[in-house]
Amino acid sequence: MSTILFTHPACIDHDPGSMHPENPSRLKAVLAALEADEFADLERREAPRVDIKDVERVHKPFYVEEILEKVPATGHVHLDPDTAMSPGSGEAIRRAAGAVCAAVDAVVGGEADNAFCAVRPPGHHAESQRAMGFCLFNNVAVAAARARAVHGLARVGIVDFDVHHGNGTENIFGREPSVFYASSHQSPCYPGTGAEYDHGIGNMVNVELYPGTGSDGFRQGWSSHILPALRKFAPDLLIISAGFDAHAYDPLAQLRLVEDDYTWVTGELKAVAADCCDGRLVSSLEGGYDLDALGASVTAHVRVLTGS
Ligand SMILES: [Zn+2]
Repeated sequence: MSTILFTHPACIDHDPGSMHPENPSRLKAVLAALEADEFADLERREAPRVDIKDVERVHKPFYVEEILEKVPATGHVHLDPDTAMSPGSGEAIRRAAGAVCAAVDAVVGGEADNAFCAVRPPGHHAESQRAMGFCLFNNVAVAAARARAVHGLARVGIVDFDVHHGNGTENIFGREPSVFYASSHQSPCYPGTGAEYDHGIGNMVNVELYPGTGSDGFRQGWSSHILPALRKFAPDLLIISAGFDAHAYDPLAQLRLVEDDYTWVTGELKAVAADCCDGRLVSSLEGGYDLDALGASVTAHVRVLTGS
């Protein structure tokens, strides 16, 4: 299997403020982990700047304009109590969304089997016209919309193992039958959406995990609910919202996953992609706030993607 890593130094320059959990050290930890010898053959590409037309497929044009206009020349601008921008944020969000678009192009174009986008800020809480939960542009949604509009794919599957429900992705695609979205997440937890009875228009699967849930409950939720539904949907491309904050050491939530769970779920998803869409898979970083656990979990995830 060939895997491409998309990233950009500008994604380090988005700084929501000192003591913020979603800080530049996260991406530094991820990139340091991917410098290990085992990833020497990983092809590395610089993420391009996103074409704003790609962003406007999923976000209202007035929202995109407002976000970019609010990027401060100095200091910070708060968009909600936990979502802020610094002078580097405008370039970071353009490169993060550009990374996933380039990844879709490369994977659908047959340049690689799959891709991992090491980017920040994360995106899955960003709704069509609202920034929230550290997220500004919904990166995976931008990627899915590009796959449909530019590459003509009929069905795109998005799966999300971040510990938080991707309310933004649900908001954008909840009534879109060509996109399937499935999430496992801690409940109760931020942002409070993602009830198991919420199925969108039959294109959504939510698995709620009680605080304290570990490997068994996580794997059962995926095996019993998400993976069968994803196979039934039969995506032409699989996109992963890869958040690693369900790890036992993560400070923002109370699930008890370990690195091996990310190995397992990535393997299962890779198998679905192999069966449904010639292995076409694009993964993009979402949360993960314990730096050591994040580095180790990304290592486990990308190790499976590369097949090494
Ligand atoms: Zn999260």
